[in-house]
Amino acid sequence: MSQHVVIIGGGISGLSAAYDLARAGIAHTLFEKLPRLGGVIETRSQDGCVLECGPDSFLAAKPDALALVKELGLEGELIGSNDSQRTTYILKHGQLVPLPEGVMMIVPTKVMPMIRTPLLSWGTKIRMGFELLRRPRKYPDRSVAEFVVDHFGQETLDYLAEPLLSGVYGGDPRQLSAASVLPRFVEMEATKGSLGRAVMGTRSSTGGSLFKTLASGLGTMVGALATYANVRHGEVDAIENTAGGFRVRADGAWIDASNVIVATPAPAASSLLAGVDAELARLLGAIPYSSSAIVSLIFDASKFDGMRAGFGFLVPKLERDRLAACTFVATKFPHRAPEDRIMLRCFFGGIGDGAILDESDESLITITREELRRILGLTTAPLLTNISRWPRSMAQYTVGHGTRVENIKTRVAAIGGLHLAGNAYDGIGIPDCVRSGRQAAASITPI
Ligand SMILES: Cc1cc2nc3c(=O)[nH]c(=O)nc-3n(C[C@H](O)[C@H](O)[C@H](O)COP(=O)(O)OP(=O)(O)OC[C@H]3O[C@@H](n4cnc5c(N)ncnc54)[C@H](O)[C@@H]3O)c2cc1C
Repeated sequence: MSQHVVIIGGGISGLSAAYDLARAGIAHTLFEKLPRLGGVIETRSQDGCVLECGPDSFLAAKPDALALVKELGLEGELIGSNDSQRTTYILKHGQLVPLPEGVMMIVPTKVMPMIRTPLLSWGTKIRMGFELLRRPRKYPDRSVAEFVVDHFGQETLDYLAEPLLSGVYGGDPRQLSAASVLPRFVEMEATKGSLGRAVMGTRSSTGGSLFKTLASGLGTMVGALATYANVRHGEVDAIENTAGGFRVRADGAWIDASNVIVATPAPAASSLLAGVDAELARLLGAIPYSSSAIVSLIFDASKFDGMRAGFGFLVPKLERDRLAACTFVATKFPHRAPEDRIMLRCFFGGIGDGAILDESDESLITITREELRRILGLTTAPLLTNISRWPRSMAQYTVGHGTRVENIKTRVAAIGGLHLAGNAYDGIGIPDCVRSGRQAAASITPI
């Protein structure tokens, strides 16, 4: 059979794979079940504002997304987070407290801001001092909660790790794997003992902006990638082995494939691969996902009567009703809203509150406005709102994730011609997904 690759899933992972296959001259068809491409990446424009319905940026420190943006000729579109105004607040006892300067996720890199912060009690600060005395030690994979409490105590978990991680994974630190979610810190624990000693004096960012995005929105990257992809809109509902490779069924019709790249979330990959390898399907099905909703609100700046809270704020679970985080979009990324507008982006859901997706639009707006009134004192009505629901979209790297992924890779390698890409395996962020798609494409050699 001639070489023909089928890619399933038109999110950033599948599109990145299609881009490299197209450039390598390898024939492919990308199936996407929705009428639009991009998966959870979706940019809209409202009232002169660039509105991101899903992700809004990517970490600059991970090179893959940045490199792809440059290859696509979109370098001129790149903007960085406005880090000179980078204050993020954490809600504690009903008050917004600034995150102390120099905190690298959970670990302080500077002494004075840590001593001065009202975010943590003296007991925790003293404990952070004792952490400097720890000796190197290796542990079997343990939860983020166990890891953080062991090093810095419960309060650091409740007011730093949990809120920071819930913005990235929508996850529960008692379930998330330290080795998969905080690999750098686990490495430091094994080699240096103390995380504080390992990072003390280092800079918490590498100089440039911590986050990058595109001025016109991440949808522009999707649009640029789409010009390379041979797309068919249709839902794939079965994959079978054949003598020459595979056949894939979409909308009742079978299409032959020498290779298949499954670039869907793991639950979909699990059901698609049940007929190819039942054990592989079981392993994929064991990767949990959380659901989330993003509510964006656009206000007339002259009427905005709430606190203007830097880049935004995080609500620790202990303080949370429904709202988990809120970003002041144009403070974080200039040019995202005109001068006379304030745009807030509110994040709901996560592993403990998937039920938020069942709320009606009207109820979600009421909940959002009530939360913003409680936290920011904001009573102004928004000019415009936008709601996006993302059911089961964020993979949860729970304890044992590393072993699960190794087993998945072993089984995939044994099948031959099958490739996986997406946020379920080696990183949940956009740069990780770009890398996974490109690696899948690179493992297919032209014949
Ligand atoms: C709300 C939210 C905010 C986020 N914020 C950030 C952020 O700011 N920065 C960051 O780096 N990361 C962020 N992430 C994570 C990151 O955006 C995602 O992990 C990444 O975009 C996932 O891309 P993907 O292509 O692997 O999967 P998806 O985007 O989920 O795409 C998978 C595609 O497969 C399609 N599909 C599924 N089943 C089938 C089938 N059977 N047949 C055909 N098509 C199918 C789906 O319709 C979908 O289009 C965020 C995630 C979410 C949900």
